[in-house]
Amino acid sequence: MEDDKKHNHNTRMQRKKEVVDAAIERAREERGIVILITGNGKGKTTSAFGTLYRALGHGQAAGVVQFIKGTQATGEVVFLRAQPIVPAVQYHAMATGFTWNTQNWDADKRAADEAWAQATRMLADPALKLVLLDELTYMLKYNYLDAADVIAAIRARPPLQTVIITGRAAKPELLELADTVSEIADRKHAFKAGVKAQAGIDF
Ligand code: ATP
Ligand code: MG
Repeated sequence: MEDDKKHNHNTRMQRKKEVVDAAIERAREERGIVILITGNGKGKTTSAFGTLYRALGHGQAAGVVQFIKGTQATGEVVFLRAQPIVPAVQYHAMATGFTWNTQNWDADKRAADEAWAQATRMLADPALKLVLLDELTYMLKYNYLDAADVIAAIRARPPLQTVIITGRAAKPELLELADTVSEIADRKHAFKAGVKAQAGIDF
C-alpha cells in the first residue's frame, strides 16, 4: 500500500478504536438479559443452542424448555444428552409432539401448562445462568399461555439470569420486554426450492 493510503487507514482505525473504546467504557452494567430471536428466516433455534453451548463452556448451569416438539429429538438435544456436562442442563420438552395439525386443544393445553410449570421453576432458580425457552412465541400467539403471566415470571427472575426466547411472530409485549432482539429475515430457504429437510441441518 502507498504511504498516504496507509496513513489514512491508520487514522481511520485510530478513530474507530476511540469510538469502540468509549462504547466499551459506557457498558458497565452487569445483569442477566432477555434475548429474543424471531423472524421468518432459518437460524433461531440453532442460534439459541449456540449460546447455550457457549454458557456450558464457561461452566454455567442452564435450563431448556422446548415448547413445540415433534416426537423425534433434534441433533442438538441428542448431542447434549451424550455429553458428560449433561447434569448442568435441565431439559423439558412439551410432551405431545404439538403440531400445527393438532385437533386436540385440551391435550395441547395440558402439555403447554406442564412445560410452562417447568419454565417457571427454572425462572425462579438462581443457580441457572441461562434459561432457553425455544418456540415460546407460539404459546402466546395461539393463546396456550397467558402473555401477562409469562412476562411477569420472566421479569421476576434472578437478576443475573439470562433468558433466550425463540420463535416467529413474537407479540409486541415480548419485543418490549427483550433487551436484545434479533430478527432473522427469510431471504431464501432451500426448502422452498424443493430441498427436503435434512438431519443435521434442519433438525
Ligand atoms: P433452526 O432450528 O434451523 O435454527 P429456526 O428455529 O429458525 O430454524 P423454525 O421456525 O423453528 O426455524 O423452524 C425449524 C425448521 O424449519 C428447520 O427445519 C428449518 O430449516 C425450517 N425453516 C426455518 N426457516 C424456514 C423458512 N423460511 N422456510 C422453510 N423452512 C424453514
Ligand atoms: Mg426454531
